[in-house]
Formats: sequence, structure tokens, C-alpha cells
Amino acid sequence: MQDPWTKEEFNLTLKDSPPEEKRSDVHFPPIKTINPMMKPEITIVCMKCEEEIKVRQLKEHQEFHSALEMFRFSMERKPSSVKQLVKRRRAIMKRLNEAANSENPVSMKKLQKLNLAYELLKADIEGTSTTLRMLDEYFQIQPTLQGHGTPLNCALAFGVCQYENARWKTSMEDRYAFKDCFCNDPQSGFFAVYDGYSGTMAAEKCARYLGEIVERKVEAIYNTNMIRETVNAEIVTAFKDAFDEMDRILLYGVEEHSRNRWSGCSALTCLLRGNNLYVANAGNIRAVLCRGDGSIERLSTNHCPKDKKERHRVRKAKGDISKSDKTALVNGVLKSTRGLGNHGDPNLKTSVIKTPAVNCLTLEESDQFLILASNGVWEVLSEEEVILLLEDIIPDIDVKAIVKRMQERASALEVGLPVPKWDEIPRRDRGVANEGDKGIAVVSSSINVEKSEGEGEHVPDEENLTEEQRHHLTGTRLEIDIKLDESRHCAKSPGLLPPSDSLSHISRGSKLFRSEKACALAKALSERLVEGAILAGSRDNITVSVVLLNGCPLQLFLLPKI
Ligand SMILES: [Zn+2]
Repeated sequence: MQDPWTKEEFNLTLKDSPPEEKRSDVHFPPIKTINPMMKPEITIVCMKCEEEIKVRQLKEHQEFHSALEMFRFSMERKPSSVKQLVKRRRAIMKRLNEAANSENPVSMKKLQKLNLAYELLKADIEGTSTTLRMLDEYFQIQPTLQGHGTPLNCALAFGVCQYENARWKTSMEDRYAFKDCFCNDPQSGFFAVYDGYSGTMAAEKCARYLGEIVERKVEAIYNTNMIRETVNAEIVTAFKDAFDEMDRILLYGVEEHSRNRWSGCSALTCLLRGNNLYVANAGNIRAVLCRGDGSIERLSTNHCPKDKKERHRVRKAKGDISKSDKTALVNGVLKSTRGLGNHGDPNLKTSVIKTPAVNCLTLEESDQFLILASNGVWEVLSEEEVILLLEDIIPDIDVKAIVKRMQERASALEVGLPVPKWDEIPRRDRGVANEGDKGIAVVSSSINVEKSEGEGEHVPDEENLTEEQRHHLTGTRLEIDIKLDESRHCAKSPGLLPPSDSLSHISRGSKLFRSEKACALAKALSERLVEGAILAGSRDNITVSVVLLNGCPLQLFLLPKI
């Protein structure tokens, strides 16, 4: 494969770009798709030191923070010499030895951590870690990602992006499935992600049949029972039965190719029906919801050895879980404690159960989007980091404030305090926010201009427009689109809705544009999260699908031109 850094067109664009004032005389073909090599590096704000760092350095940066904390230093007060570091190390060792006795010796794990932290800080003082980092950046190649976006009836749009991660994995074992107008209901949709292992058969079969099974069971409930209180309970049972039925299909082992043990998969399925959302999952795929205030809430249950209850259950079923914190595996092979398949390994089958956790919730009108992502994302990114990664796609909002609130909520939940409510998306109060204000002013003036124009007014032919006029026209379209979005976003308070006739003359044309924008956004969000996971060092297959909900304020998002 050709080294992308030496690609001719890359060099040409850089060397032969005309000076700014001459640019209009030279014909340059319009760049429609962004060359991944030309994209700026994705950055993320560190919540500890508020520094903007490259995502590919995230892990290393977090390790550096822990090392500093262990040696009682901070980013502002780093050790200035190796001598100072050695002194601090000696003091810590002395304290550890004093606290230890013959019954409780100094733990090897603690010593190992201390030594690693020491090496890291020493390398920073001597400047050797920077050299290594630069080498890594030079050789690491940016992945080429291609996501997809498609409009939906039951919501705004669906987007998906996958990456095999060939550097670490031999094949793509993740699968996804979705169906709009589920159970012939235009308000209903089904979305699923399956994360396979030991072969693709289980994930493949689930993608093909599990949706159909759920549809049959759910349709039967809707046809016979319309009492709201009991519907939820029946749907929970329907999901559990569907997972059970699917697992029995896998028992036949049709098309099974695995040599050591039969394939298995984590499964996550979502049913959206109006404002009701049901999430059923077995394994470590996660569904998270971006709420109206910009915070992210986990909707699925993480079935992994780290979870105390799951660990207890697996051990009770005579399953084995290794003690190492970071790489705890069930029977030395599996990262998840629930899933479908695994029929070729009776020991694993008894520990790894098929029963899904089912979550029923009522969506708020302001809820923005749903993310379903496989383990490849969550092994390197937290839910907070997912929001931080979207900062330049949503430039107007204060991502740091959102993350701080998410952390406050998490700690309130942990200690059993009432979880603070938060209704508004915090906006930035400097820089970009000023531009945003200007944008709003333009919106109102452009609408006024439109109103003052007579019906017989000459509308310029788009083909004869200059570049500037065309740009202005595109801008106007966007603004109209924004106006519609705002009216939709405010729909819950009828007083804020503009009179319907004032928008009727533009609504037909811009409706299409709005759905295009929604598709592009769903695609962009899924691509961004996959790219972020790769750069953060994921070693697993990665699948991210995004369901843009009806309450998503499209006007807040910045997108590449479509
Ligand atoms: Zn930091």
C-alpha cells in the first residue's frame, strides 16, 4: 500500500496552492469529500487540567495525571529534576514500609504502579517521552472511515459507521440491523448491534432473525393489549422470550465454522415506539441517550466481570474469573458475562447466560440522539469522553459544563442523594457564542427581507449567480431550516410556535433539506465516535450507530457542507 503521507495530491495541494488573492483566477475542482489525510487531528479537553489534547494521546495523558497524583505533584507543580523525583519516591517507599507488617506486606501491585509512574515522570523530565510520542504520530496512519446516514419515519435519521481495526483483529465480527416502520407502525423502529466472537455466525444470525422474532412477539401484544400499564411488562417478557428463541436457533449450529468453540455474541436491541423506548441487552454493547441538556445517560446494563453482581453470579455457576482488574475474563476467554450462542463450550454456556436486561423508558420531547456502540468504543472511551469528542461538532454549547454536571449526577447517584435536574443546554459565554448571536440576528433580518418581497418579485436564476450570491442563498436556506427546527424544538410550549401560515411557503422546499442535514449529522456523529475510539487506542472491532430523535436541535450542530 502506498504511504498516504507521500501521496502526490497531498504534496501538490500544499506546495502549489496559489496566494490568497489569486485564488479566484485559478480553477480548482471543488473538494466534495474531505480527504481523511487532510482532516485536522481530533482533540479532546482534559477534564483534569482543561488542556486541549490529541485523542491519540488521551490514554498516555491520563496515565501521566495518575503518575503525578501518586507522587503528590500536579500539572502546575511538576517535578523539576530526577533528584527531586527520587527523593519523593524514597519518602513514599518509607511510608509504605512503615505501614506494612509480616501479615500485610507491601503489595506487589502497588509497587509495580509506583515504578511505572516513576518511569513516566522520569521520561518526562529527561524529555524522552516526547520523542517517542512524536515518532508514534509520524508513523500512525489516519483511518479512512465511511459511515452512512439514512432518513427515518419513526425518528429523524439513522447513521452507522464500522471499523474492523485490522491492526488488532483478523475479521469484522460486529453486525448491526435496523427496521423503520416496525410492526407496520410508522412511529415505530427497531435498532440493534451484535458484537460477535469466536467467529461471525452468532452475530450474523442474530442480525438476520432476532428483529423478526421481536417484531412477531411485539405485534401480538399491540394487537391484543392496549392497556398502557401492562404493555410494558408484556414487552419485557417478549424481549426475554425473543432472546431465548434466538439462542435456541443458534443451538443447531447451522453455518458454524469455529474450530475451538462455537461462536457467540453480545446483543443489544432497541424498540422505539412513539415516545416509548425499550432497550434489551445481554453483554457489553452499550446504548446511551443524549438528553435535552446535552448530558449522556446509559440505558443498557453492562454485563462484564467488573460488575459485582455479575461476577458473583458467574462464580456461583462454577465459572472462573481471573483476578486481574484490567483484563478480567470469564473462563479466561470472554470479556462479557451474558450473550447468545456459545453452544460449543458447555462450561462457558452455564456461566454466560442469554437473559437480557430490559429497560423501558419514556423519552422527553427534547431528547437528542441515541448511540448504540460495541465494546471497541467503551474499552477506550467513557460516556463523558464521548460528549467531549463532539465539542467541535456542537461548538456553541459548553461541553465542559455538561461533563461536570454528568459527574455531579454520577456521584449523587453513588451516595444515594437526589440527582440534580438540569433542563437547559449550557452555552459558551465567550468566543463562538458571539458568532452565534450574530447568526440569530441574521436569521431575523433574512426572514424580514423575505416577507417584504412581493409575490411577483424576480427570483434570481441559481445558475447565473456569482459565488458570493450562491453562498448567500445557501446561507438563507440554512437559516430557514434553522427557523423550522427551532419551531419544532419549542413545540411543547404552543405559545412559542410561529403562526403556521408564516412558514407554509417555505416548508415544502426546506423539509427535504432538513432530512438531508439529519442524515449527514447521524453519519458524522457515528464517524466521529469511531475515529475517536481508534485514535484513543481501541483494539477491538468498532461499531457505532446513531438514531437522531425528533427533538434533536439540528441548528446547534456544525456540519461539513452537503
Ligand atoms: Zn490533563
